[in-house]
Amino acid sequence: MRAVLALGSNLGDREWTLMSAAEALNEIGEVVGFSSFLENRPVGGPPQPDYLNAVLILDTQLEPTELLRVCQAIEKIFGRTRDVHWGPRTLDIDIISCDSQTFESETLTLPHPRASERRFVLAPWLEIDNQAHLPGKGAVADLLANLE
Ligand code: ATP
Ligand code: CA
Ligand code: CA
Repeated sequence: MRAVLALGSNLGDREWTLMSAAEALNEIGEVVGFSSFLENRPVGGPPQPDYLNAVLILDTQLEPTELLRVCQAIEKIFGRTRDVHWGPRTLDIDIISCDSQTFESETLTLPHPRASERRFVLAPWLEIDNQAHLPGKGAVADLLANLE
């Protein structure tokens, strides 16, 4: 399965955290794409520092629900605590899509329901895959153009 992951950090050494998270993810599959890091203003939540965001493409044998569990474990290793909704965090890993699957459970929705409105997801994704496609929504290039 090919998964598209959105990484974000706005606490601590953000660059180091994103690099190290990519190394950790490479242990459960193969990282086949990793965008440059983009600085972004936080969207929603309380006032907080700017984010550093990136998108990573991972080929893995894991099922989506297993992948979510691993992503949450990696967040925890890098010091993620969950207190404030949309609050600051050392590391956030969102699963944007898994192949062209659509999936909905209590803990996992695929594709990520807010991805199509997020420039900080779409822009780095397009950078590493100019054919990128968000299942059910269309070409990432078009989605991004519509945001402008
Ligand atoms: P947002 O999802 O709007 O970016 P967030 O990343 O701050 O917000 P979290 O607190 O990290 O939200 O996650 C809340 C819950 O979202 C997680 O516990 C997880 O079970 C659920 N979730 C549902 N779909 C996904 C997905 N595609 N990727 C990651 N988490 C998901
Ligand atoms: Ca998120
Ligand atoms: Ca998240």
